[in-house]
Amino acid sequence: MALIVQKYGGTSMGSPERIKNVARRVARFRAEGHQVVVVVSAMSGETNRLIALAKEIQATPDPRELDVVISTGEQVTIGLLCMALKDAGLQAKSYTGPQVRILTDDAFNKARILSIDEANIRADLDAGQVVVVAGFQGVDEAGNITTLGRGGSDTTGVALAAALKADECQIYTDVDGVYTTDPRIVPEARKLDTVTFEEMLEMASLGSKVLQIRSVEFAGKYKVKLRVLSSFQDEGEGTLITVEEGKNMEQPIISGIAFNRDEAKLTVLGVPDRPGIAYQLLGPIADANIDVDMIIQNVGRDGTTDFSFTVNRPEFEKAKAVLESVRQHIGAREIIGDNKICKVSAVGVGMRSHPGVASQMFRALAEEGINIQMISTSEIKISVVLDEKYLELAVRVLHRSFGLDK
Ligand code: ASP
Ligand code: MG
Repeated sequence: MALIVQKYGGTSMGSPERIKNVARRVARFRAEGHQVVVVVSAMSGETNRLIALAKEIQATPDPRELDVVISTGEQVTIGLLCMALKDAGLQAKSYTGPQVRILTDDAFNKARILSIDEANIRADLDAGQVVVVAGFQGVDEAGNITTLGRGGSDTTGVALAAALKADECQIYTDVDGVYTTDPRIVPEARKLDTVTFEEMLEMASLGSKVLQIRSVEFAGKYKVKLRVLSSFQDEGEGTLITVEEGKNMEQPIISGIAFNRDEAKLTVLGVPDRPGIAYQLLGPIADANIDVDMIIQNVGRDGTTDFSFTVNRPEFEKAKAVLESVRQHIGAREIIGDNKICKVSAVGVGMRSHPGVASQMFRALAEEGINIQMISTSEIKISVVLDEKYLELAVRVLHRSFGLDK
C-alpha cells in the first residue's frame, strides 16, 4: 500500500465526462489498496475567464479581491470530483486550501506556501476516504484567501506530497510526459523517460509549461518522487523526475530545448560607470515585484556603460516606467526596449562533462543566419535571446543539431 498524491490539470477536469474519468482512475488506485490524495485545477479556461471578468470590473483588479474571485474555479472542481467519486462507490471528501490550512504568505496572486496542516487529511485517509484538495489556493496568517500564481496547482500537489511524505506525486496532464521540446514545433520531439530535477527546473524556468517552476523547486528540496503522466492514457510510465543523473554512459549531452516567447528586453544607455549602479537600476525593479531574467552590463568606456536585462513581456511597460524615473535620478542617457524577443535554451546536465556545447549551439544558429542578441549560461544550460521571428526555426535547428530527434 502506498500513499499517492495525484494532481489533475484543467484539461483533465475540463468536462463532466473527464471528471468521471478521473474518478475512475482514482478508483483503480484505491482498488489496488493505495491511499489517494487528489489535487485539482479549475476546469480548463475557467481561471482565464475569471481573470477577464475581474478586469471588466476593474482594469487592474485589487489583488486581494482577485484571489477571492479566481480561487473559485478550484472550489467547483473539488466538489464535482467528490460527487463523481461517491457515484463510483468511494468515500470522498473535499477541502479548499484554507480548509486544509495551507498557510501562505500574504503576497496575493503569487503567494508562497509556508506550512501545511496535514493532520485532518491523514485521519481521513486512515478512515478510507479519498481526499480531494483544491489546488492553487491557500490562506494567509490573517485569514485572507491567497493564490499561488498561474499553474499553482502543481505546487499544491507537490507541497502536499512533501507534507504527507507521500510515496509518489503524480502530475496528470494532457501530455504523456516531458518532451525534448514542444512537439507542436518539432514533431520529432521525444518523450524523456527520466529527467533530473536540475534539468526540469531549468526547463520550467526557461519556458517549458509542463510544470510550474515552484513545484519543481519544492520537489527537489523535499525529495518528492515526481512523475508527469497523461490523464488520457491508461498505459505509460510518463516521465520520472529524478534526483540523480542517469547512470548510463550514453547520457545525452543535451536533454531538451526550452523556449519562451513572452520576453522583453530593456537597455539603459549611457549609465555612469560607478559602484552601486546595478543596484540603483534593479532595486526599484525588484521593489515593483518585476522578475528580471538575463542581465548584461557592458565594459565601461569614457566613464559610462550600457546595461541590459530581460523581463516577462507583460511587465515590459511597467519596467520601462520604473526605469524612466530611475534614469533621471542617476543621470543615464536613454532607455530603449524591445518586446519582440524570445529566449531559446539548450538544457542538459551532460554539458558539465562536455566542452564545446556553446560553440556547437552558436554555429547551428549562425548557419541559419540567426542573430544572437544576448547570451547567458549556467553549468547546465545555455540561453540565447533572439528576435521573436526566429523562435521556431531556432528550436528546430537546435533540436536537430543536438541529435534529439534520434
Ligand atoms: N487554475 C489555475 C491556473 O489556471 C491553477 C492551475 O491550473 O494550476 O493557473
Ligand atoms: Mg497546469
